[in-house]
Amino acid sequence: MSDRIYNFSAGPATLPLEVLEIAQKEFLNFNNSGMSLIESSHRSPEYDAVHQSCIKLFREVLQLDESYHVLFLGGGASTQFAMIPMNFLTKDKTAAYVDTGAWAGKAMKEAKYFGNVHLAGSSKDASYDHVPMSLDIPSGSAYVHLTSNNTIFGTQYQTFPDCGNVPMICDMSSDVASRVHDFSKFDLIYAGAQKNLGPAGVTVVILKDEMLQKANKDIPTMFSYHTHAKKQSLFNTPPVFPIYIVKLVLEWILRNGGIAGIEKINVAKKERIYQMIDLYRDYFKGTVKADSRSWMNITMRLPSEDLEKKFIAEAKANGMSGLKGHRDVGGIRVSTYNAMPKEGIVKLAQFMESFKASNPA
Ligand SMILES: *Cc1c(COP(=O)(O)O)cnc(C)c1O
Repeated sequence: MSDRIYNFSAGPATLPLEVLEIAQKEFLNFNNSGMSLIESSHRSPEYDAVHQSCIKLFREVLQLDESYHVLFLGGGASTQFAMIPMNFLTKDKTAAYVDTGAWAGKAMKEAKYFGNVHLAGSSKDASYDHVPMSLDIPSGSAYVHLTSNNTIFGTQYQTFPDCGNVPMICDMSSDVASRVHDFSKFDLIYAGAQKNLGPAGVTVVILKDEMLQKANKDIPTMFSYHTHAKKQSLFNTPPVFPIYIVKLVLEWILRNGGIAGIEKINVAKKERIYQMIDLYRDYFKGTVKADSRSWMNITMRLPSEDLEKKFIAEAKANGMSGLKGHRDVGGIRVSTYNAMPKEGIVKLAQFMESFKASNPA
């Protein structure tokens, strides 16, 4: 469709065109039910097939076995900031947190309502230009909380730090299913869908049964992982439409060779942009250390704020939107999520080249 632009927004973000077209085609009459999926009962066979298939697809895509619960919750990743400590902390327990930027900080703030928070590592003094690899995690900690990709600052763990025997919890909102990892080393993974999985409205929580068994039971029903695990996220009405789109996105990932196939494309994409940053380092100034560079959110400054404004406006006029950096950090941010086609990256790299040539510092 020629009227679609390349959307580099950090979230909600671009989705595969193929997925949108399937959803459009199926929208009015889902699977011959004579109604739209969003008009169907969440207890209907039509919806149940979508729900169960989405759970299975998650395990298949992330290569996890059935000891992992896959939950579909509302409230965004931000609600998980509170739900995690509500389930796993008490006033006499400690959780270790790694401060890698704004989202990690918000997670830490919520944990303090429920128990003790130990700062296991931080890159705050370096303006979050890297992710700390050597952590200080007290051995009896209830869990350690990491943020795999820092959407705002443009840093990402390339490999995960050693956390000893302490259960690992990770906010993967902006890089879930983007690269190959041993996901089984995490006890809980969570992700708001709107960056790399689908539309806003569903948050995926992937939780090892062993970890679930440690969750507090004396907390309100809707905030208890036990409730949602026991009812497979059908205790109340789940966000049916976002779950359906996530299912289509997971199927799209599998058609593209699974995470391994997607990773290959993602590597080529991020390398193309970092090449420009390395080649023209005095013009496109990368803001993070090379060993912490995000594959998903590439951040840079231009020689002046005026040039940044001009860059964003001209890119938009050329069919590339969403390049403005987060309001807290400014500059340019190129989000290169799974669904951003390689063609969009090639076009942006060419634009960077010509913009630099016609706008000297
Ligand atoms: C966007 C984002 C969040 C917040 O997600 P909401 O669904 O808006 O609550 C949390 N963590 C990370 C890493 C994010 O990128």
